[in-house]
Amino acid sequence: MKNWAGNITWNPSEIAYPTSEEAIQQIVLKAANDRKKIRIIGTGHSFTPLCKTDDILISLDKFQGLVNTNKDKVQATVKAGTKLNYLGELLFKEGMAMENLGDIDVQSIAGTISTGTHGTGKKFGTISTQVIALRLVNGKGEIVDCSETNNRALFKAAQVSLGVLGIITQVTLQCVPAYKLALQNRKETIAAVLGNLKERNDNNRNFEFYWMPYSETTWTKTSNIVESDEPDKINFFNYWSEYVLENYLFKLFCEYATLFPSQNVAVSKLTASSISDVKKVYYSHKIYATQRMVRFREMEYNVPREAFETVFKEVVKTVNSKKFNIHFPIESRFVKGDDIMMSPAYGRDSAYIACHVYAKKDCRPYFDALEAIFRNHGGRPHWGKMNTLTTNDIVDLYPEFRTFMKHRMQQDPDNLFISPYLQQLLGSII
Ligand SMILES: Cc1cc2nc3c(=O)[nH]c(=O)nc-3n(C[C@H](O)[C@H](O)[C@H](O)COP(=O)(O)OP(=O)(O)OC[C@H]3O[C@@H](n4cnc5c(N)ncnc54)[C@H](O)[C@@H]3O)c2cc1C
Repeated sequence: MKNWAGNITWNPSEIAYPTSEEAIQQIVLKAANDRKKIRIIGTGHSFTPLCKTDDILISLDKFQGLVNTNKDKVQATVKAGTKLNYLGELLFKEGMAMENLGDIDVQSIAGTISTGTHGTGKKFGTISTQVIALRLVNGKGEIVDCSETNNRALFKAAQVSLGVLGIITQVTLQCVPAYKLALQNRKETIAAVLGNLKERNDNNRNFEFYWMPYSETTWTKTSNIVESDEPDKINFFNYWSEYVLENYLFKLFCEYATLFPSQNVAVSKLTASSISDVKKVYYSHKIYATQRMVRFREMEYNVPREAFETVFKEVVKTVNSKKFNIHFPIESRFVKGDDIMMSPAYGRDSAYIACHVYAKKDCRPYFDALEAIFRNHGGRPHWGKMNTLTTNDIVDLYPEFRTFMKHRMQQDPDNLFISPYLQQLLGSII
C-alpha cells in the first residue's frame, strides 16, 4: 500500500472491503479476538502515516451511497466510504449540496472529516462542522450513535477523530439547497491582496490566494453564489488552464527545477507569468474541486486569523532570503472557528497556510523552517499533512485533548485502532 503522495508505504497482512455494518462489526470482533490491530483507510490522501498498519486495513470503498435524506431539513445520511465527488452527484439529484468543500473531491467523507479537512471562506468551518450526526463501530464491536443532540460529548470528540474512536459507518450532513457559484481566478500583486484582505474575506463567500515564491505575484480565487438561471460557463479555456497548464505544463516545470535546482526562482516566476484570469460558473460541487496530478508533499498549519498577516510576512521573508530548493506556490485560506475537540480551528477563527514541495525534492529544510514560524504563533497542523508534533505539543495546543482521550479509552479500551504512529503521536496518555 502507499498513500497518494507516495511518502508512506506499508504492507498490511489483510485488507478488508466490508459491504455492510454487520460485516464491519464482525471484522472488529474477530480482530479483537485474534489480538490484531485495525487501521481504516479512506483514499489515502493524507501525507501522515495515519492509515499505516502491519495488521488489518479496512477500506469502505464497497460501502458507499445515500442512506436517507430529509428534504425539509435539507439533511442527508450517507455511508461513510462515499467519495466526495459521488456524494456531490447524489446530493445534487436531491436538490442539495454541501455548503463548502476543499481543493479536491476524491476523498471519502469519513476520511475527510477525520483529519479536519477544510476549504476556504470566513463564514464556514471545517467540513466536520457540516456533520450533525455520526454512527461508528467502536473497538468493542458496538454500534454507537452520537449527534449534536444525543451523546453530544462523544460527538464533539468524533467529528475529528483520526480513526481512533472506531470505524465511522454513517455520516449525517446538514446540507444546503443546491446553488451555483461563479468562480473568478485572477493574477494580482501580493501588495493588492494584503492591502484589503479583510474586505475580500468579508465581501466574498470564498476567498483564497496562492503566492508564487520569490515574486510579487499571487493567484487569487474568489467565488460567490449566483442565481440558478445564470448561464453555465465551463469551456475549453477552463479545461486548458486547469488540466494542461496546472498539471502537465507544471509537471514539466517541476522536473526541470529538480534537474536544475538553481532554476527554482526562474521556474516560480515562469509559473507566475503563465497565470491567466479564469471565470467559471456552475453548480457548487463542480466548482470547488481541481485536478491534482503532480505529486507533492505538503505541510499545512492553522494559525489564529489575527496572526495571519504577521505569519505570512515572516514566511515570505524566510522563503525569499533562504532560497530553499522549492518553487511551489504557498496557499492561504480562511476558516471559521469551531467547538470540535481535535479540530485545528478549535476555539478560534483561523487562517491556514499550506506549503508544498515536488515529490522528488527534499522537503525537510523548507518545512522545518516554516513549521518553526507557525509553531511560534500557536500554529496547529492539519492532521493529514506533514508535521513534527509530539504529544506534549498536542497537550499544549488542544485544551480538550485529555477529554478526547477519555472518550478514546471508553470506545477502544484494548487499543485496537492504535498503530505505532498513533502511539507515538498520542503518546504516554494512551
Ligand atoms: C492532492 C490533495 C489535495 C488536498 N486538498 C485538501 C484541501 O483542500 N483541504 C484540506 O483540508 N485537506 C486537503 N487534503 C488532505 C486530505 O483532505 C486529508 O488528508 C483527508 O483526510 C484525506 O481523506 P481520505 O479519504 O483520503 O482519508 P485517509 O487519508 O485515507 O485517512 C485519513 C484518516 O481518516 C481515517 N478514516 C478513514 N475512514 C474512516 C472511517 N470510516 N472511520 C474512521 N476513520 C476513518 C483514517 O484512519 C485516517 O486516520 C488534500 C490532500 C491531497 C493529497
